[in-house]
Amino acid sequence: MMIVMKTTATEEDVAAVIDRIEAIGARADVSRGEEVTLIGAIGDREHEAHVADMGLEGEPGVDHVVPILKPYKLASLERRRGEPSVLDLAGVPIGGRHFALIAGPCTVESRDQTLATAEAVKAAGAPLLRGGAYKPRTSPYSFQGLGEEGLRLLAEAKERTGLPVVTELMDVRDLEPVLEVADVIQIGARNMQNYTLLTEIGRAGRPVLIKRGLSSTLEELLMAAEYVLKEGNEDVLLCERGIRTFETAYRFTLDLMAIPVLKQLTHLPVVVDPSHAAGRRDLVEPLSLAAAAAGADGIIVEVHPEPEAAICDAAQQLRASEFAGYADRVRAAAALAGKTAAASPEARAA
Ligand code: PEP
Ligand code: MN
Repeated sequence: MMIVMKTTATEEDVAAVIDRIEAIGARADVSRGEEVTLIGAIGDREHEAHVADMGLEGEPGVDHVVPILKPYKLASLERRRGEPSVLDLAGVPIGGRHFALIAGPCTVESRDQTLATAEAVKAAGAPLLRGGAYKPRTSPYSFQGLGEEGLRLLAEAKERTGLPVVTELMDVRDLEPVLEVADVIQIGARNMQNYTLLTEIGRAGRPVLIKRGLSSTLEELLMAAEYVLKEGNEDVLLCERGIRTFETAYRFTLDLMAIPVLKQLTHLPVVVDPSHAAGRRDLVEPLSLAAAAAGADGIIVEVHPEPEAAICDAAQQLRASEFAGYADRVRAAAALAGKTAAASPEARAA
């Protein structure tokens, strides 16, 4: 941490800051310029966090405080010496040069709908199936998901197609049944800062996809990942799914810049969800192509055999009958970014 003193700071002000820094066991490195004095607080990351919390900005003579170290260390790119991590999601590689398409319904609604979607996803060569059994709905009066029955249907779809499953966990009390079917546990945008949930998932040791909060910064997203990594779970995927901005012409603003910027900050794979960002089917493909071409490691997208009849997110789900063409075009866009798309189990076996 670097403390920049005001031009009007007195020697007593400087001495008081040095005392505060030394009191926590950090070393104070003072550099006196013609106009301003800079005080570096030298120590480890815990010292850095401690100094950040000290409220030095309110002390006499202090102008501002500049952090030097990133607050996340396990998620940082430096930890892997600049190399992106390649994760193994039940046999499907993602990250580095490996791209993976994750697709399926917003919500598990029925056996027919789930199995038909899973078959379409597999036929299009997408290697992972998504589907929610526990749904985070804005209204408590909306359909909340089939719960354990939904998990059973996902298990059946997985058995039939061989596709590993991505599904959301909202409440740690449902962890056990979710672990029985989920190859990747999804943490929804609204739970990105549910730190007790993140800690439990970290301990569960299953790959986790963390969705960016509706109004969260990239640093906050990385700190959420840090909670999981800190428990020893290295299999963390970050997901950009659109953020709130002043724009009202569409539901959320897909932050495409998050892709290259996260890649400069972290070794973790970056997945993009164009469906929840757009809220509209016609925008899903252009956003998917842009995200894949910008270097996303994966796309998680909603597909339904009959979107008009969907209980949830009807306007944004892609038509299963059109999914294979979409998947081909997305893979071509990923190839522009130098990535090879992971294949579905059938193609893998061939
Ligand atoms: C979802 O993926 O089903 C979902 C609800 O997404 P989000 O948490 O990003 O809104
Ligand atoms: Mn949805």
